[in-house]
This record gives sequence, structure tokens and C-alpha cells, in this order.
Amino acid sequence: MKPWEKNIRTVVPYVPGEQPQGRGLIKLNTNENPYPPAPGVLRALREMDGRLLRKYPDPAASALVEGLAEFYGLCSSQVFVGVGSDDVLAMAFMTFFNSGKPILFPDITYSFYPVWADLFQIPYKTPALDGEFRIRPADYYQENGGVVFPNPNAPTGIFLPLKQVEDILDHNQDVVVIVDEAYIDFGGVSARTLLDRYENLLVVGTFSKSRSMAGMRIGYAFGSPALIKAMENVKYSYNSYTMNLPSVLSGVEALKDKEYFYETVGKIVNTRERAKSRFKELGFKCPDSSANFLFITHEERKAEEILQALREKNIYVRHFNAPRISEYLRVTIGTDDEMEAVYDFLASWLVTLSR
Ligand code: PMP
Repeated sequence: MKPWEKNIRTVVPYVPGEQPQGRGLIKLNTNENPYPPAPGVLRALREMDGRLLRKYPDPAASALVEGLAEFYGLCSSQVFVGVGSDDVLAMAFMTFFNSGKPILFPDITYSFYPVWADLFQIPYKTPALDGEFRIRPADYYQENGGVVFPNPNAPTGIFLPLKQVEDILDHNQDVVVIVDEAYIDFGGVSARTLLDRYENLLVVGTFSKSRSMAGMRIGYAFGSPALIKAMENVKYSYNSYTMNLPSVLSGVEALKDKEYFYETVGKIVNTRERAKSRFKELGFKCPDSSANFLFITHEERKAEEILQALREKNIYVRHFNAPRISEYLRVTIGTDDEMEAVYDFLASWLVTLSR
């Protein structure tokens, strides 16, 4: 080992879902939205004055902060923005989880949480979801250095009713509680309505899913002005210009088109509800998802086997080789046509196997 090698920070990185390129793929592996962003977004990008790129962007991304505050009926001082919710969550971990006590998040959840915890040297504990993959609020009554969970949870899609989120908050008034609402627009009720009552609540959201803008990298957090100020101080100590100009401009445009937003979200919800019964007819079971994906398992066929069969047909879904969930596949809700192609293929594949 070279002398300098012993000082290298070694981390086990998060592994994002594959991003296969090419035509004719059905890509249902990273929970993207199958519909394009609002028309105003593409117009704003086409019409953007390229000369503005010469200058640094507004470090506060004020236009986007104000757009979000207006859309959600909050004050600008309650809004933080970042480069996707991954950036916002990483910043929140760094800002709030410094007590030295273990933070808590479910055993089955967004697999980036343990990676940030390790990166920032935050100890953590992972209370197990119950047998039906539900969060048990009582597991979060123990002493801790903070709490974080997605709602709806990923990769299960299960929504934790707001009463239970409140129960977790009531038992955790001395630490910051982060509710990661990446998928909230597809079902469930946002914890945003609890912000007035809990100064220690941070609600995180993204434009990657319901607003079809994963490629733009826009995430945000809502919280009390004290929490937001603390995050801003960390952000400005790290990188002044996290949000680039095209992202800010197009994010503002996306917020203006409420009709398009509700229409595309509605289409995905309809397709998801149909998918629940179609997969069931094919012999799959899945928790009741409130997100833009289903977490399916088959009565007879191994998840790995189904994954490979789909892959050979250029259909990509996500498999997590982790305890308790290795027999499940997470399938993003695509367009009706994409989903029909998946059901058709699975129906004929399963019949061939049973002969
Ligand atoms: N939270 C959860 C639960 C997610 O599944 C994802 C998507 N990988 C994110 C946050 C991050 O999404 P983004 O950085 O695109 O906003």
C-alpha cells in the first residue's frame, strides 16, 4: 500500500438503476414518468437566452423557491431547493444528524439512506417493517439522533397514514424528522399540512417523478425557517451555485401548468390501478401501492427468472438482492401501451412454462 492510500476515504457507493440507451426499450426500472414534462418547460428551454449562461446563476434560486412557496401555500423562508432530492436529502443528513446517536429508518427503504449515513459517519438503526411491509410507528419511540422515511415508502409503495406520521412526530420532538415524499403526488396525503405544528419536521420532494423532470435534477424541502436556514448555511459552505439556470427556469414553468400536472398524475394513477388487477390475474401479489410503481412477487416463479425473461424482451424492471425482498421486482408504471406489452409478454411466458 502506498503511504497516501491509507488516507483515502473508502465508501461503498449507492448503485443507481441502469440507464440503458437505445430504441424499443420498455424502461420501468427507475420510476421515471413516461410522459414528457409540461409543454411550457420545453418552450422555456427553447426560448432561453443562451447569453445568460455566461453568468453565474442566482445562488438562492429565488424564482424556483418563490414558485414552490406559491404553489404549496408556504413562505419562501420555508423552502429549500437542490439538485434533485438526493442532493437535498444529503444536505439534510449533513445538517441535522450530528448528535452521535443512531438515526432511524426502516430496514426496507430507499437504499441511499445507509450510504449517506456511512459517508457522513452517522450511526444508524433500521427497525424492521412488519410482515406486510408496513412501518410500525412504535419502533420509532426509542431514543435516536433523527428519523427519516419515505412516504409512500420505496420500494414497497405503501403509504403511512398521516395520523401515524404524526404519532412518530409526537414521539420525536427533540430530533429532526425527515419525510421523503418523492412519490406523494401519486397517492396519500402530504405531511406538509403538519409543518405549522412541528418545527422539527422536514418534508422533501422532487420534480423527478410526478413532474417528469428527472433529467433536470430539481428537488426541494419544506420546513420551519429555522431548519431551512440551517440547511442553507451548510449549502453555502459547500457550493454556492447548486442549481443551474435551465433547471431553475424550467422548474418555474412546470409549476405554472397545474392542469397538465394533475392530468399526467391522474393517468399514471389509473394505469397503476389497472396494473394491480392485471398482475394479480397473472399470479402476482403486491402491497397496495400509492406510488408510481408496484412491488410484485410471483406465486411460482423466482424474481431473478422473471427479471431475465423480461430483460431478453428489452423490458427493464428493478430487482434488489436484499434480505426479505429478493423475490420481489419493482415495476415502474409506464404508459398503457407499455404496460399492455408487459402483461402480454408475461401471460405468454407463464403459459409456456406451465406446459
Ligand atoms: N427518495 C426516494 C424514496 C427515491 O426513490 C428517489 C429516487 N431514486 C429519490 C429520493 C431521489 O430522487 P431525485 O434525486 O431524482 O429527486
